[in-house]
Amino acid sequence: MWRCKECSESLSGRYELLKHFRLQHRHRQRYPCPHTNCPCTFKTWNALHIHLNRAHPKQNSQEQLELSIFSCHLCTSSDLPTERDYFVHIGTHFKSHETVPCMFVGCSFETNIYATFHSHKNRKHKPHTLKDFKPGVVRTTLVAQESSDNPVEYAHNQDDSAVEVHSACSSSDVDVTQNSSKVIEKNFAASLLKLEHFAHVPGTKIDEFLEELHYLSSATLPLSIDILEGVFQKHSPTTDKSVITEVATALCASNPLLKAIGKGGPLRTSYLRNQYYKDSFNVVEPIEYILDAKEKRSFQYVPVLKSLQQLFQRKDVVDKVVENHRVQQSNRGTGEQQTYKSSQDGSHFKENGFLSGDDLRILLTIYIDDFEICNPLGTSRKKHKLCGIYWTLSNLPPGSHSSLSSIYLAVLCKTDDVKKYGYDRVLHPLLQDMITLEQVGVFIPLLGRCLKGTIQVVAADNLGAHSIAGFNESFSGGYICRFCTATSTDIQTKEVKSGAFSLRTKELHDSHVKSAQENGASCFGVKRHCSITQSLDHFSIHTGYPPDIMHDIFEGLVPVELARCLALLISKKYFNLETLNKSILQFPYKWADKTNRPHVIPHTFSKRKTIGGNAHENWALLRLLPFIIGHLVPEGEIAWQILLDLKDIAELVVAPRQTDESIAYLEGKISEHRQKYQELFPDVRLLPKHHYLEHYPQLIRMFGPLVGLWTMRFEAKHSFF
Ligand SMILES: [Zn+2]
Ligand SMILES: [Zn+2]
Ligand SMILES: [Zn+2]
Ligand SMILES: [Zn+2]
Ligand SMILES: [Zn+2]
Repeated sequence: MWRCKECSESLSGRYELLKHFRLQHRHRQRYPCPHTNCPCTFKTWNALHIHLNRAHPKQNSQEQLELSIFSCHLCTSSDLPTERDYFVHIGTHFKSHETVPCMFVGCSFETNIYATFHSHKNRKHKPHTLKDFKPGVVRTTLVAQESSDNPVEYAHNQDDSAVEVHSACSSSDVDVTQNSSKVIEKNFAASLLKLEHFAHVPGTKIDEFLEELHYLSSATLPLSIDILEGVFQKHSPTTDKSVITEVATALCASNPLLKAIGKGGPLRTSYLRNQYYKDSFNVVEPIEYILDAKEKRSFQYVPVLKSLQQLFQRKDVVDKVVENHRVQQSNRGTGEQQTYKSSQDGSHFKENGFLSGDDLRILLTIYIDDFEICNPLGTSRKKHKLCGIYWTLSNLPPGSHSSLSSIYLAVLCKTDDVKKYGYDRVLHPLLQDMITLEQVGVFIPLLGRCLKGTIQVVAADNLGAHSIAGFNESFSGGYICRFCTATSTDIQTKEVKSGAFSLRTKELHDSHVKSAQENGASCFGVKRHCSITQSLDHFSIHTGYPPDIMHDIFEGLVPVELARCLALLISKKYFNLETLNKSILQFPYKWADKTNRPHVIPHTFSKRKTIGGNAHENWALLRLLPFIIGHLVPEGEIAWQILLDLKDIAELVVAPRQTDESIAYLEGKISEHRQKYQELFPDVRLLPKHHYLEHYPQLIRMFGPLVGLWTMRFEAKHSFF
């Protein structure tokens, strides 16, 4: 017997097991070796085959197989087929608050808290083998059995799914056949779904392709008859030709792929496929909310709680989240020097008892951005601006990108409607879900309990953040900062570092909101309450809106300061614009810089006082500028030093890991940079973004490294639309 490590189904041979795994568990990212005692897993199917041939060559005579069965050491359950089933079962004892003694030999640890047990097991008994369990837990029997796999078959079938699919159908058991036919159909549908929604192949093109495929496959019937005739000739030459034709026709007609796309098949047309996806793939469907029935204004909301439940059905996600929580917990209180690697190292997180307590919480980052879906060159440009509100799970350690940290859509609304009806209305269904998440939580079957959670931060550009949070939406004068009460005049003469500005705190902000409500006028830049802070108990205005490094630095200060300094360097005749642009074009860009290669600088740049360009292009230009043009600038040139300082600052800000030392260094650099800039351009007013930058050192201590929020914004922009 060969037992699947994933679902514990038993199969007759190694090859059958591999086939089963490929078909039933193909969403797994790694394929485990089918041998019970082998812990190896593989990224690709091919690698697994190579491993099998090398590490477990087929034995000629008979194969010895160990069959293990687990018994609970607390109750009478004694037929738990796998280790995983055993631990799932142990979990039920924790759920009923029983004290569970550790099941490993020589260990006297006991606890009635699942999380404590889990971390004990990970610390003390990882890795372990079946021999490490206390006597009586594991029973192993040696089963001698005929090995039914055939190495020659492997060689032919390597990664050739078409062949496997056909052989899977040839099973004699009717039930199995029907079942596997359904599975093949579902896998096929999943492949088509990927084509349509990830590769953006239009549904009509897929219809055409499927029709063609169906036609071509049916056209192979005469060929099949020929082949069958050959086979029958060899083994039973008396068989009537009509029988052969019938066999071939039946085989052709029973092919689940052809059935699915043939007449009456469920995957035949775009419409039918969408039906099929909805029925088979747990689609979380958007709900339309009416803003104004008469004007026909509405927006779409994709229920976040439902999506969360779906996400937490994945074992890999749950494992990562639990593991991350455990690591965070064990890192707490270690006396070493403070390092900031994620938002959970920031003081805002640590000081929030709901987020950083012993209980595992679901942490969401909400991300808001406007984007255009139509040709931006068209005349009807404004009409198609959409506001997208996305969410992502911030429980995962930074850097664990890929499919785990996907960004999910929550709200889609026309930007004009957001302006007209306000964020309160548009955020309402989302906030209702968040209130439930804070107070009740969502049930996670894999953990057997509810997890509560909340919105950790809202990442938006400055305008977006100010309008949701209820601050002034103008940055040309007055109170321009959501972190402190500075005005655009104050920031010209005072530095954040000097302590001249009072930071906005919960108490201060509450009093501003109150006075704004009473007087009907904004108070210290506060126009109204923040609807998120208002609805949620554990979200607060002064901890919920991190800075936006993309617009502050890479699309803000960098293009503006580049324009000023380059204009000055050109006026000093170190080089001219033509030389500069030629060097920009001819520079040998490598790796990521190739895709983000900077554009040439437009002739209008000094009049427009910015070089334009997107964040990645500007970043590449600033970073590579010393290599592009540095040799033409004499030493000690102050405009050049300003650019180099800005480059250092940007580099420090995007660092994924910060220490108190690196933050102090950043603070010094920012102050130095400000001084030089004001010296060289005494008549130029500092921008609000200059002031925000001065907040960065303290903001990194509060929010953790800021770069995570940037990359996320960037990815979201490029996701679905
Ligand atoms: Zn299985
Ligand atoms: Zn192996
Ligand atoms: Zn038990
Ligand atoms: Zn133990
Ligand atoms: Zn400020």
